[in-house]
Amino acid sequence: MSWKKLLQIVGVLTFMSYQTHAQMISKQGLLQLQSNFHEAEKQLDARLADTSSNAPASIELNLQKAQLYMLYQRADLLQSLLSEIQQQVFAQDDAVVQSHWHLLNGIQFYLFGKYAQADNSFKSSLGLLEDQNLQQENAYLENFILMYQAVNRVYLQQYETALNALTAVYKNAEKNNWPLIQARSLVFIGDVNYALKNYEQALEYYQNAYNTYPKNALIYRAETLMYDAQMVNIVGERSLAFAQLEQAMDVFVEQQDDTRLANAYLLKSYFYSKVPDDAKALEWIAKSVEKREALGNPIDIANAYVHYSSQLGTNGQIPLALEYAKKAADLAEMQEDIAGQWDAYGNYANLLNQAGDYQQAFHFMRLSERALLKKARLDITSQTATLNAEFNLKREQLKSEFLNEQGLLLEERNTLLNAQLLMEQQHQRQQNWVVMVLSAALVFFLIMCAVIYRLYIKNKVLASRDPLTSLHNRRSVLMLGEQAINSSDRYQYAVSVLMLDIDNFKAVNDSFGHETGDSVIQYVADICIATLRKPDYVGRVGGEEFLLVLPHTDESAALLLAQRLCKQVVTADKKSIGQVKQVTVSIGIATKNINSDQPHNRSVDKDLNQLIREADAALYVAKDKGRNQVQVYHTDLELKDHAVNLEATMPDMLRT
Ligand code: GH3
Ligand code: MG
Ligand code: MG
Repeated sequence: MSWKKLLQIVGVLTFMSYQTHAQMISKQGLLQLQSNFHEAEKQLDARLADTSSNAPASIELNLQKAQLYMLYQRADLLQSLLSEIQQQVFAQDDAVVQSHWHLLNGIQFYLFGKYAQADNSFKSSLGLLEDQNLQQENAYLENFILMYQAVNRVYLQQYETALNALTAVYKNAEKNNWPLIQARSLVFIGDVNYALKNYEQALEYYQNAYNTYPKNALIYRAETLMYDAQMVNIVGERSLAFAQLEQAMDVFVEQQDDTRLANAYLLKSYFYSKVPDDAKALEWIAKSVEKREALGNPIDIANAYVHYSSQLGTNGQIPLALEYAKKAADLAEMQEDIAGQWDAYGNYANLLNQAGDYQQAFHFMRLSERALLKKARLDITSQTATLNAEFNLKREQLKSEFLNEQGLLLEERNTLLNAQLLMEQQHQRQQNWVVMVLSAALVFFLIMCAVIYRLYIKNKVLASRDPLTSLHNRRSVLMLGEQAINSSDRYQYAVSVLMLDIDNFKAVNDSFGHETGDSVIQYVADICIATLRKPDYVGRVGGEEFLLVLPHTDESAALLLAQRLCKQVVTADKKSIGQVKQVTVSIGIATKNINSDQPHNRSVDKDLNQLIREADAALYVAKDKGRNQVQVYHTDLELKDHAVNLEATMPDMLRT
């Protein structure tokens, strides 16, 4: 077991051992710094006896007593006192007092090596001040708690945050002129440097702290001197280190500070081991063990046993060394202090090895290793937790940054999309308009087409019709007649052509006016339409002349039809022609037969003009023979008399 390790343990265990500021609760507390432990305890007990009926005063005194125990690092006494006054403290509605209680309880946990519980207590202590917004009025107390919290966190492997917190506390104390807190934070910073093996810097901080402490802070100054000596022993002169340690020890003796005295003895033993003077080293560590046993803190006792047994081993007292090593291992096993277990098991294994009990040595070496692994795991867990927390924080930051960015991007995209949407809607509207306009145009166009078509058809009809009678006009009836003639050639059927002329029409005009003349023309046209068959055509080819084309009609059939027409004109109702009482017509017939054998008809391949000429000729004969009759054309012009026997109607026609 190396003395270096011992030195480190002394360092860490004692860097919480400084007394709190006496003004923390009461100004009178400063007196405690001037008297020794038992004296101060007696004074407080006497005052407590007087105030037993006054709860707040009793609590205050008890807390002062607790501070006293804390100053002297009497974790055992502190623990029992705090649990004794706990109910009383929390029955009072005083957040500051409760905060004090938690602080002291945290320090008690700390001294027993229960760092996690200590951390919780410090948090509760701070929380009470924060909840009630009491930090400002209790700035001194708050800084004090923060300082202890930071130091405790060194044991939870949070060196950097601890250093930052301590530096902040130091600066705050400097600003407010609190020399005690200022000096104590410097000591703690020195301790962290020491734990990190920065001995030169640690020495500097200790010396600085020593000069900063108020002169009456006897115990603090003595202890700082002891740490100063510890560093001097490493980086400076051994004789100076011994001298400083002696000086500190004198104060501890005077103050009856057994805890610090035990530490000082341990340190002195270490100094002697470096001389080297094993006898003296053993002598002083034995004294340390004695003090520690009397004080009763199992962690400290186990620690003292480890070093004692190690020195005994070095001095060749193997059986006694084994005895103390075993005691240390047994004590450590009962503690939560893993570092202590690692130390105690390792030490025991070492000594068993020296004694030749290899099997047992192996067993304890394994236990030691296991404790070391457990500690390492805790360290790693703590580091991992820190890293995890940092990682999570970073991730959250990144995530929120990302989300912000993403949000901005989304917003931008939304704006773009909206603009696009608007444009598309506009476009759509435009398109709709275009479609509507085009549709309307199309419908209009179609309507126009229909109108135009109808007009065209109407025009076409009109163009082919006679406006007065609605019969075919000349051009139309000639065209149709031509077609009929052509068809008759192809399909071998007879066609007859009739030429009809109203008799003495000039006289009608002259007697009744042109209008009545028109109605007579209309009258005759109506009779033609009513008399003709479907395939027949009738057209008005002159003023009061009509051309009738009768397909599939031979001469005799044409004759019958013409006679019927003549008769109809005479007999039909004449309401439409007003005063005109008598109308007659004359008709000339020409036929194109299928059979060319017929003697009177050698014109089978006759065209329409020819037929019309022939019909005209026949008509002329009819007129000539007295009108109101039908004549059939013959090539020899022997026109047969087909006059309708209607007895001279001519004079009647003129009758008005
Ligand atoms: P005929 O028996 O010999 O045929 O005697 P007509 O008086 O009918 O003689 P014609 O055929 O030569 O006379 C035709 C007359 O018909 C001449 C003209 O004044 C008249 N006319 C011709 N076209 C029209 C018309 O559209 N309306 C009217 N009211 N009279 C017409
Ligand atoms: Mg005529
Ligand atoms: Mg006439």
